[in-house]
Amino acid sequence: MSFELPALKYAHDALEPHIDARTMEIHHGKHHAGYTANLNAAIEGTANEGKSIEDILDSLDMNNKAVRNNGGGFYNHTLFWEVMSPDGGGSPSGELASAINEAYGSFDSFKETFSTAAKTQFGSGWAWLCVHPGGKVEVCSTPNQDNTLMPNVGCGGTPILGLDVWEHAYYLNYQNRRPDYVAAFFNVINWDEVATRYGSYK
Ligand code: MN
Repeated sequence: MSFELPALKYAHDALEPHIDARTMEIHHGKHHAGYTANLNAAIEGTANEGKSIEDILDSLDMNNKAVRNNGGGFYNHTLFWEVMSPDGGGSPSGELASAINEAYGSFDSFKETFSTAAKTQFGSGWAWLCVHPGGKVEVCSTPNQDNTLMPNVGCGGTPILGLDVWEHAYYLNYQNRRPDYVAAFFNVINWDEVATRYGSYK
């Protein structure tokens, strides 16, 4: 059994004008597809074959660069597509909103903290909102395709929202203007999906 590139649940142009269709085509069809194929090649015939991606990342040997980079890339992008929606934007409600308010005081304050994490991650990487057992949420960022499921990476919680800040995620439309891309992301966040993940992993 091997990992498969998950299908997008919306059209390539569905997130426009915030994320353009050409970027989505290349990002999903080339980059994510590449991580998926390279992950499968890296685990074939090893003890990782047949494990879930979460199990692979939880017990990752950080010196295994092929599984680290491609397993991270597979997991991170799978999450990324799910936490965006053409019907997204706004702000969370319910227990997720309460957890965000408890940690950051207000949604606007959370938004600033998350945006700063995304804008100041030097080079390629991701910004995350994670949940810890018990329900506390925390923002952090990680380099390259690392994520917080990996041993001793970032805040160590389970990611429930992630933003890709690799240049391949925004350069066609935003060039060097990463802050504009980060601001636009908030117009497509699928808070219902983030809340579902909060409920599953808290
Ligand atoms: Mn990417």
